[in-house]
Amino acid sequence: MPQTAIIWLRRDLRLQDQPAFATAAKIADYVLPLYIHAPHEERPQAGAASRWWLHHSLSSLRQELRERGSDLFLDSAFLDSASASSASTLMRWAQANSASLVLCTAISEPWAEERDSKTAAELAQAGIELRIMADGLLTDPHAIRNRSNTPYRAFTPFWRQVRGQLNPPQAKPAPTSLPPPPEHAHNSSAELEQLNLLDRVRWHDKLADYWQPGSTAASHRLASLSPEFFAAYPDERDFPAQPGTSLLSPHLHFGELSIREVWHQAAHSQSENHSGPADHSGVETYLAELGWREFAYHLLTQQPNLHSYPVDRRFAAMPWRDDPDNSLYSAWHLGQTGIPLVDAGMKELWATGWMHNRVRMVVGSFLVKNLRLPWQLGEEYFRDTLVDWDLASNSMGWQWVAGCGADAAPYFRIFNPVRQGERFDPEGEYVRRWLPQLGALNKKQIHQPWTVPAATLDSAGIRLGKDYPWPIIDLQSSRREALEAFQSIKG
Ligand code: FAD
Repeated sequence: MPQTAIIWLRRDLRLQDQPAFATAAKIADYVLPLYIHAPHEERPQAGAASRWWLHHSLSSLRQELRERGSDLFLDSAFLDSASASSASTLMRWAQANSASLVLCTAISEPWAEERDSKTAAELAQAGIELRIMADGLLTDPHAIRNRSNTPYRAFTPFWRQVRGQLNPPQAKPAPTSLPPPPEHAHNSSAELEQLNLLDRVRWHDKLADYWQPGSTAASHRLASLSPEFFAAYPDERDFPAQPGTSLLSPHLHFGELSIREVWHQAAHSQSENHSGPADHSGVETYLAELGWREFAYHLLTQQPNLHSYPVDRRFAAMPWRDDPDNSLYSAWHLGQTGIPLVDAGMKELWATGWMHNRVRMVVGSFLVKNLRLPWQLGEEYFRDTLVDWDLASNSMGWQWVAGCGADAAPYFRIFNPVRQGERFDPEGEYVRRWLPQLGALNKKQIHQPWTVPAATLDSAGIRLGKDYPWPIIDLQSSRREALEAFQSIKG
């Protein structure tokens, strides 16, 4: 009896170093790669930019599968029936194609782990095995424990332990051909457009100017990261005008790259770098950033509602500012706060679906500390607009910024966005790129246009309040008020 295996694709949208495909190719005569669109099962649901990425990533994977004699099957069951579930959908596909094995790779998010174990139990009752394989992370986020046998709350000791033990296997190349799908399965697939991943208003077309989703583009991007890139990473990564970071985050989120190939590309670049004295600090700094990603997932195992509830419980009582007409929040998300580095960051996010890490910290600090609005508003906005939105990293990032997370920036350390601009955008290049109306100001003026004499503004063609807003808040007094608010919950 020929064996048919279904590959249930989720966050592993690639063929290289993909354990489900590797296993299926060894044991099955027919392989049916299936993507089930079930947004109602996600907690919380991915936003519009992430869905745009997913649409194109699926399209790219379908192409790669077809080139290898296979195909991608899509199911939009949820759109037809609100009671559909991944379990019932898998059951239908398995029974229609006489498949007794479903292979998938793990998603280390609490809602997904719960859904997957229920799905496994339901399928087992019908004699179908759901085999969930580790992937996506370098560590098992549930297994890591400190000497007191409790999970880590701080990154440095976490990474000290994990880094020493990490020895990920070499990544395996994509198979050149795959077992064919069962013949009659072809008729059952939905069209990609039927998944409705793309918003009807085509605001997202602009994202294609900056990104190419899919594992082919991801592999090119990874291959382009030279030993020089890694060596320069610690110096360059904080300067948002420079191309100093790898831009791999959305590719990693959707599993278009295996984390093991990223690890080895970085780790081996140090032995290839023959120019000058060996400097391993660049590579180690980069690997530690991958470590932060692992740490985020480790934190998520400890607190499933990491995206909405503060790790430091005292922050639940924070006296946030009243913003009854949402005017402060609107100014923040539209990039109209009158603080150039903040506004440039929000414009970058809106235009590209991505924002430089340094600027994420600055816009976050401004929202939570100067505007004193709940960090959850920022978390939600990023969730909707980031192409690299990731439940673990975004939740940890926002809790870090707000000062209420594990190992977070202390609340009293409040970024001054003007100083941050002077330090990390010293020529004003980043601000000029995203706020061209300020382009004629010099590098000092551009970070605080409200201090520039009227005549200078005039000759630069800038009318504050018209071409660019006055600051919506005073940085000094709002800083003081933030510290007072913090004092009130500290006890
Ligand atoms: P690089 O500097 O090249 O880093 C390489 C990889 O390491 C990244 O692709 C990413 O996978 C990982 N990484 C780097 N920094 C971090 C970090 N601080 N935390 C976790 N992983 C990290 N990252 C996301 O992937 N998704 C998010 O939704 C997200 N939201 C964030 C929200 C806030 C408020 C903050 C402060 C940070 C957030 N980050 C998030 C982390 C970080 O900003 C991005 O991972 C990084 O900017 C991605 O760009 P890159 O791939 O060029 O990074």
